[in-house]
Amino acid sequence: VDADPALGQAVKAADRAHVFHSWSAQSVIDPLAVAGAEGSYFWDFEGKRYLDFSSQLVNTNIGHQHPKVVAAIQEQAAKLCTFAPAFAIEARSEAARLIAERTPGDLDKIFFTNGGAEANENAIRMARLHTGRQKVLSTYRSYHGATANAIALTGDPRRWQNEIGVSGVVHFWGPYPYRSNFHAGNEAQECERALAHLEQVIAFEGPQTVAAIILETVVGTAGILIPPAGYLAGVREICDRYGIVFILDEVMAGFGRTGEWFAADHWGVTPDLLTFAKGVNSGYVPLGGVAISGEIAATFAERPFPGGLTYSGHPLACASAVATINAMAEEGIVENAKHIGETVIGPELRAMAERHPSVGEVRGLGVFWAVELVKNRETREPITPYNAAGAANAPIAELAAECKKRGLWPFTNMNRFHVVPPCNVSESEVKEGLAILDEVLTLTDAHTV
Ligand code: PLP
Repeated sequence: VDADPALGQAVKAADRAHVFHSWSAQSVIDPLAVAGAEGSYFWDFEGKRYLDFSSQLVNTNIGHQHPKVVAAIQEQAAKLCTFAPAFAIEARSEAARLIAERTPGDLDKIFFTNGGAEANENAIRMARLHTGRQKVLSTYRSYHGATANAIALTGDPRRWQNEIGVSGVVHFWGPYPYRSNFHAGNEAQECERALAHLEQVIAFEGPQTVAAIILETVVGTAGILIPPAGYLAGVREICDRYGIVFILDEVMAGFGRTGEWFAADHWGVTPDLLTFAKGVNSGYVPLGGVAISGEIAATFAERPFPGGLTYSGHPLACASAVATINAMAEEGIVENAKHIGETVIGPELRAMAERHPSVGEVRGLGVFWAVELVKNRETREPITPYNAAGAANAPIAELAAECKKRGLWPFTNMNRFHVVPPCNVSESEVKEGLAILDEVLTLTDAHTV
């Protein structure tokens, strides 16, 4: 890694002068200038290397600069850079075929978008048109994207300033055994009571007004919450009974993250619509989409679908998806995610939970894990209050800063540290990152009472 601090300073200066950043007060941010990346690592212009335990925004499922995908993008660029969605294009046809081959059940038609939020927007549009109903139900502990409907459906605080002008969104509580909203004593009770709660919300909203229920199959940013056995099947049954469209958001959980191609595969559940983005091509070129059931696709057989995007199924994005999916299959990357979760991340995090009083719970699947940090293991009081900022967030901010100092790029949200490396991370890389986490957890341990 060749250092070039002067270039780094120029990159940073132009950024601060002209780039307007997401989710940030512009005067207080301090973005790291990145010089390059490969596999599970990236580096800055000082030559300092970081192990990427965040997979950026939990999307680089095959790591950085996978040579097969880089080559596929270069080849497609030389052949055909762009073409309008109305045409049949080889890369687009093949990407749709490879995705449909992997999605559960009869989700065999693919509508392409540029990312996850647009995928959810269009899934909701399809559900409303298909049912002729307006309302969409989602959980409080969720993130569905930053466009109008997607952010209104989101449960986390990013919704608060964004839901104005959007109607027909209703939130409910999903299952979360560690912090049960239902005073449940075990997973089976949590499942049963969460389903009863959902059924009651539907009854009081009026089942004939509900177009869709949208869930993250495994909740991502809002906590890596794995549904108890029977929950997704229960939601499926409720949807069938009331004619409600069941949408699974697999934008973060899909394409290997949980150790299966789709998280829904763990429970054998088929939704009516499944949204994806991120891991479909590791984010090398923006891409997302909706996988559509035969029944919903039939709604638009004679009647036009009133939605579209200039870059729906962009050839460069689709070529990168084809190469990504093929590389994942050839290299056993989904199996690797499962194996790393079962044999390294799970056991090591459980051992850390024994050693560190600030660890309240560890949970996860594949390369999709959360370490939930608490002030006190008995009371389960979170180490930082919900949506903490400034001094109240110090324990998590200190933890993240210390990780970075030691060359580990962390993913934190609220009172949690998420262990979300690429799906093709090696055993030794994971061990390197977990060893750093083990050391820095002494910082949060110091905040326990
Ligand atoms: N849905 C889930 C579960 C996500 O995690 C995200 C992004 O983090 C989105 C939707 C939105 O995707 P995008 O940022 O590509 O619009």
